[in-house]
Amino acid sequence: MLLLGAGRTSVCWAGRRVVEEGLVTGSAGNISVRVRDDRVVVTPGGARLDRLDERDCPVLEMDGRVLEGAREPSSETPMHLAIYRETDAGAIVHTHSADCVAVSAVLDELPPIHYYTLMLGGIVRVAGYATYGTPELARNVLAALEGGRRAALMANHGAVALGRDLDEAIQNALLLEWLCGVYLRARAIGEPRALTEAQLGEAVERFAGPGYVPPAGPAVARFVGGRARLLPPEPGGV
Ligand code: 13P
Ligand code: ZN
Repeated sequence: MLLLGAGRTSVCWAGRRVVEEGLVTGSAGNISVRVRDDRVVVTPGGARLDRLDERDCPVLEMDGRVLEGAREPSSETPMHLAIYRETDAGAIVHTHSADCVAVSAVLDELPPIHYYTLMLGGIVRVAGYATYGTPELARNVLAALEGGRRAALMANHGAVALGRDLDEAIQNALLLEWLCGVYLRARAIGEPRALTEAQLGEAVERFAGPGYVPPAGPAVARFVGGRARLLPPEPGGV
């Protein structure tokens, strides 16, 4: 796990990266990383993520107490802390990337038209809408991440992606934006075929076999290791 100084450096690096990648415009979105002794470095509220100064980034206890930092923590701090408390995430990226917002405004989950959804731990769910920054939104996002998901959409708002570190969290945010973009393009020319549970299950088996290392391993590995197949259908869901 990162030391505090390295945590602040990596949050500033990640801020520049998400803007360069087009995942974030202006101050939409926020970033955090878990540092040693179970503390969290988070971006300040209302900040341009490509212009962060390390000293501005607050350092928090898991209960939200601010230990250091010249500015107020992000308004979405309750969501970041809730995720760290309930999962093994080492880093979190929240964005308002366009294709994620578009899908989140229409659907309750992202139909699995490409097996790369497995890289995110299964079919990506859309967390129920609640006002930004509220404990209710944090609860809805946690529910959408249940079952070891590494990403979720947030209804009429955006997306959240987890990783062992910030590089992986950004990769997962990019993958989700790509999956949403592909779905939107397919939807523009007709009704996309979703992969069946059996087809996804076969892809999971191949991930588990020799000769192919999934680029975003941990989600799939745990997914496979835990159950060696897709998560069972949930009541009322897929
Ligand atoms: P902050 O600027 O407070 O991090 O808020 C941005 C955001 O995305 C709220 O959901
Ligand atoms: Zn937001």
